[in-house]
Amino acid sequence: MGKKKRKSSKKFSNKIQNIKNNYKKQFPHLVRRLCIKCGECGRNICPVGVIEFIPTKYPRFDLLKCTSCFKCIEICQYDAIIPKEARLKSLLM
Ligand code: SF4
Ligand code: SF4
Repeated sequence: MGKKKRKSSKKFSNKIQNIKNNYKKQFPHLVRRLCIKCGECGRNICPVGVIEFIPTKYPRFDLLKCTSCFKCIEICQYDAIIPKEARLKSLLM
């Protein structure tokens, strides 16, 4: 049981470290009113595979793993992804 507790606290401290490293960095931000849900950004263009696209839904980005390479911004023909400073709340989700 103690082992399990240590493991989850390590996971939590890793998450906090990640937030500290990434806070104030720019990340992709989806502008929903411009996104037509074409799914182009979800087609293996992300080098770390953090864009999840489910047909008919908006793409989702796992910002904790995102490296801010902005390939997703380049691929979107509708300018629906823009770089934006991440808020602490969005990194915690
Ligand atoms: S490529 Fe652009 S328009 Fe297409 S799903 Fe992604 S963000 Fe939306
Ligand atoms: S910025 Fe790069 S790493 Fe982040 S979601 Fe877009 S393609 Fe993936």
